[in-house]
Amino acid sequence: MSARVLVVDDVPANVKLLEARLSAEYFDVVTANCGTQALEIAERAECDIILLDVMMPDMDGFEVCRRLKANPKTHFVPVVMVTALDHPSDRVRGLEAGADDFLTKPVSDVVLIARVRSLTRLKMMTDELRMRAITSLEIGVQAPERDAIADQGKGGRVLLVDDRPSSYERLAPVLATEHTVDVEPNPADAVFHAAEGNYDLLIVSLGLENFDGLRLCSQARSLERTRNVPILAISDADNNSRLLRGLEIGVNDYLLRPVDKNELLARARTQIRKRRYTDHLRDNVQNSIEMAITDALTGLHNRRYMETHVNALAEQATTRGKPLALMILDIDFFKAINDTYGHDAGDDVLREFAVRIRKSIRGIDLACRYGGEEFVIVMPETDLHVAGMVADRLRRSVAGETFAIEKGARRIDVTVSIGISSLEGKSEAVADVMKRADQSLYRAKHDGRNRVVATPSPFAQPSNGAPQMRSAR
Ligand code: GH3
Ligand code: MG
Ligand code: MG
Repeated sequence: MSARVLVVDDVPANVKLLEARLSAEYFDVVTANCGTQALEIAERAECDIILLDVMMPDMDGFEVCRRLKANPKTHFVPVVMVTALDHPSDRVRGLEAGADDFLTKPVSDVVLIARVRSLTRLKMMTDELRMRAITSLEIGVQAPERDAIADQGKGGRVLLVDDRPSSYERLAPVLATEHTVDVEPNPADAVFHAAEGNYDLLIVSLGLENFDGLRLCSQARSLERTRNVPILAISDADNNSRLLRGLEIGVNDYLLRPVDKNELLARARTQIRKRRYTDHLRDNVQNSIEMAITDALTGLHNRRYMETHVNALAEQATTRGKPLALMILDIDFFKAINDTYGHDAGDDVLREFAVRIRKSIRGIDLACRYGGEEFVIVMPETDLHVAGMVADRLRRSVAGETFAIEKGARRIDVTVSIGISSLEGKSEAVADVMKRADQSLYRAKHDGRNRVVATPSPFAQPSNGAPQMRSAR
């Protein structure tokens, strides 16, 4: 998929030049010749990156950038300032306005393409995460955009990998004005240090004495625990090809020596802000996955999850030749609880019921709310006999102690009926095992409730002497 680049410049010749170079690399290019038009296009036409001239008559690039970053619709689009001014103070102004990077006119082809590629790649990754996070937005989790716009990028944890005292003794105190900084002067230990430290940013000097700084960056990219930590490289001014190599292997940003203090701070803040934002998105995705598989009232798994996962458990049982027990539980006369004490009291009972289930089962058992006041528990490596004992213990824990309702003001009796079945060695369809458990439950209800009924599998081997439990009180 080709990325769409918006090129903004008031001088038509500059627009043409960038347009030609980008089109040659198969980017889809849109152009604007003033700030107002750029803002319009950016809001309307999904751009993947914006190359923004700084000096323009109607509204300068800094202002355009500030507005783009303040608008939730365009906040995520990376902005590269293209400027003839190459003063650290201009870079800092741009970074403060939220720019993601700089290109200095005349723009070198290689640097242009490398920067556009690396920034669009990052954007596509965050787009993907955002898309997944939309589910959680729909369920009402707060929009991460707001936090992202408000975050100043300060107070991060930074690891500076630099073996030259003259360099780190100057840089560390600068960073320490806004962040917590650790210095690692031994590059060989740096990756381990980074993996253990839960850092928001790695700053790596590429001019290390006896160690290849780029190797370090690529190691950090391949390790699970550091894969998503941004890397800011510090390069000696004349090392263009190494820098490009760095951007290719996943370095997020770079600074040239001599390092300007304000630029260092501004670039560190930008990377830390981005890191926090993507983390936040990842958490959102995680939350939405959890919500999708969890029953909100009881915190147990929901039916959808159980129905998918039970197949995996059944398959595992069959291949290992182990039994698998399944029970269906249904609270007795639950409708009467609702009718007598109200729906909230019913909910209290369901919640407490789930607590008692959790106390009676093992970690590997899968408990779910199947619907209404019906629950299912799947027990790996458990035969019908043992399942019967577990079920009866659970039945007694419900009947044996009253349930609190109305914030503890009242306690009521609750009982449960349980039907159990099992999958024994043979590859039987899970649906058939469920059906047997359901028939057992029906019998338990019919025989007077508050009881456990087990129906043995037609495939079951006669077990060594232990009588099959059919009914228990
Ligand atoms: P039985 O002993 O035969 O199981 O009778 P029962 O009353 O428990 O069964 P029935 O299926 O007739 O009623 C179940 C009731 O559960 C009906 C429904 O309104 C109620 N219910 C379902 N979901 C919820 C819920 O989330 N909260 C509450 N409070 N009640 C619910
Ligand atoms: Mg019921
Ligand atoms: Mg029911």
